[in-house]
Amino acid sequence: MTEQPLPGFHLVRHPLVDLKVTALRDHRTIPSDFRRSLQELSQLVAYEAMRDFETVPCRVQTPLAEATGARPARPLVLMPILRAGLAMADGILRMFPSAAVGHLGMFRNEQTLEPVSYYFRLPPGAKDAHVLLLDPMLATGNSLAAAAQRLKDEGIPKLTCACIVASQPGVRRLREMHPDMPIFGAALDEALDERGYITPGLGDAGDRIFGT
Ligand code: URA
Repeated sequence: MTEQPLPGFHLVRHPLVDLKVTALRDHRTIPSDFRRSLQELSQLVAYEAMRDFETVPCRVQTPLAEATGARPARPLVLMPILRAGLAMADGILRMFPSAAVGHLGMFRNEQTLEPVSYYFRLPPGAKDAHVLLLDPMLATGNSLAAAAQRLKDEGIPKLTCACIVASQPGVRRLREMHPDMPIFGAALDEALDERGYITPGLGDAGDRIFGT
């Protein structure tokens, strides 16, 4: 189940989601537990984000008889923004092992808070795919907006953004730039601090995932 506290932003509502977000927020959570909770949460967010994933009917043979099944109408491509997005892709791949994975390297210029792109790789077949753009932290929205633009420039026909914690200003900005891209998340926080970190947020997701 989702609710829409801001236009275009779908907040996943479930007690399991709240428990796992709390574990991520807790500063005492060690990297191995942080990673696992983030991977599990990514599956729960992707479950909702893929609600409009197109399938076509197919026939499947059970041990007893034929049944009607479903197969993807187009491939699924996961596009994690490096580096924290990688943990989201790991979680979702466990649920959808046939997804292809692209990579988008981006860091923030700490002075301007503007995104700087340093790596971009799309898997073959992405031009027809449904692409899930992954970044656990939708903070200023600048990186995700630049990433979405890059994917649109490549002709990606269907784009959905999945994050874990979003900030209200970040959602507004991303929505302004890409009103056609639905955004899904597990938590929505009010503000950003002067360094562009989400508050209360969960700190630096990459550092907490990788123990740096
Ligand atoms: N990136 C993070 O990892 N955390 C934030 O709060 C903002 C950007």
